Amino acid sequence: MRTIIHARYTLRGGVLVDDLAITVDGDAIVDAGTLTELGARYPAADRVGGDDYILAPGFTNAHDHGRALGTLALGVADNFLELWLGHLARLPRIPPYLAARYSGLQLLGSGVTAVAHSHNPSSWSELPAEIPEALRGYADAGIRVAMHPPIVDQNQLVYAERELFLDMLPPELRRRAGSAEAVDLSADDYFALLEDLYRNFHDSKRHRAHIQASPAGGQWCGDELIIRACEWARARRTRVQMHMLETRYQRIYARKTWGVSFIRHLEDIGALGDWLTLAHMVWVEDEDMELLAERGVGVAHNISSNLRLRSGIAPVAMLAAAGVPVGIGLDGQTLDDDQDFLREMRLAWTIGNQSGMAAADLDAETVWRMGAGLAADITFGAEVPLGELEVGGLADLVLLEGEAIRRPADYLPLKRLPALLLRRCRREHVRHVMVGGEWILRDGEHVSVNARDVERELWERLRFEARDLPSELEAHLRRFYRAWDDEELPPLPGQSHQNDSG
Ligand SMILES: [Zn+2]
Repeated sequence: MRTIIHARYTLRGGVLVDDLAITVDGDAIVDAGTLTELGARYPAADRVGGDDYILAPGFTNAHDHGRALGTLALGVADNFLELWLGHLARLPRIPPYLAARYSGLQLLGSGVTAVAHSHNPSSWSELPAEIPEALRGYADAGIRVAMHPPIVDQNQLVYAERELFLDMLPPELRRRAGSAEAVDLSADDYFALLEDLYRNFHDSKRHRAHIQASPAGGQWCGDELIIRACEWARARRTRVQMHMLETRYQRIYARKTWGVSFIRHLEDIGALGDWLTLAHMVWVEDEDMELLAERGVGVAHNISSNLRLRSGIAPVAMLAAAGVPVGIGLDGQTLDDDQDFLREMRLAWTIGNQSGMAAADLDAETVWRMGAGLAADITFGAEVPLGELEVGGLADLVLLEGEAIRRPADYLPLKRLPALLLRRCRREHVRHVMVGGEWILRDGEHVSVNARDVERELWERLRFEARDLPSELEAHLRRFYRAWDDEELPPLPGQSHQNDSG
């Protein structure tokens, strides 16, 4: 059964095009042209859309954790990453199937048709059981997933200087802190698990699920582990995703440890390449942007999360200008705690344009691509036909209500409309969503499931235990990292010209 999908405007490569319809057959886009042309070629085809809509490719959330309800709602207040992380282990348990299913439904309602899921296991021994459950949850929601089972093997308590930190603690706390960081998952067991998951779930034909390696973060993984992850992924033509340079203390860690930037160190060990995506990258250094572009490394940009966890603002306009492929990710931490991908793109665009006439520009067209084509490239690989409404591509698409821009669109030139649309559209404008040729959302409602029922089940199954979350370590951690702020470091991107004037 063929379907012609048409709209007043179609978003393609970040720009809006007039009168461009597509024909979907099976799970793919098989033709494109004006509605009149396609109507003549496929007279029996169904038609969906109309002049009230804007047709866009489905969006890809390039970095998230699929926690379903958000950490704040589950009792963990936003805080500096280094102080916040310790609380994650104490989040109330949500069955991974339900968490993934609800996360997927929430994202689909915001026009997101694919997600990169960085898994936080409830314990390391549960990891092998949890990943298939999470995959099943996303599959039942109807969303594509790039799955990242994590591994770490160092620096769980603090970044390096562990003994120094332990010496700062009162004896009783020192004893407990010193014994609370064991990771009982060996690298061999991890790669055996990854291999097993890859064999059973990696879908290199229809791209419903990809299995990727994930040394969870540069400072938490030794060189050997990172190198092995890259080798494993490259041999299987899949990818690696890592948290990187999220906070200033991770940058300082690299300088203290190797005397060079984190990115330079990754280059030295051969980890940089077009198989790699780095999430956050708030503290990337000037000299490294060209290197990242040359190596084809992707960056997942998490603007809300970086604001909420007080990490800082990534130089995203400069990364884009240097030619680094940047995709947008929600990290489960959107500004309004609602997983609204459209608003997240708006925030990335607005804050991406920094003050100072020398600052790089970030235009709306680029941000649309960061939400769709580029995000799909850095999540599934550029060779996978996702993220653009092109003939031969997989049919993942969104019909947005055109109401938000209808009046101005009557007189504004077409080239102004991507900016206007990006300034105004919200989750409420998402009306119809298709993934792989199947309608998942019609008229703003999920076709096969009531998302509110799933949410209700989630809350019912949640087990809150009345306990004060341990925050004894926080003051000590803050004091420890505060001392790191005195390190002498090279200026950051955009800093040198600002300093010239002072
Ligand atoms: Zn993350």
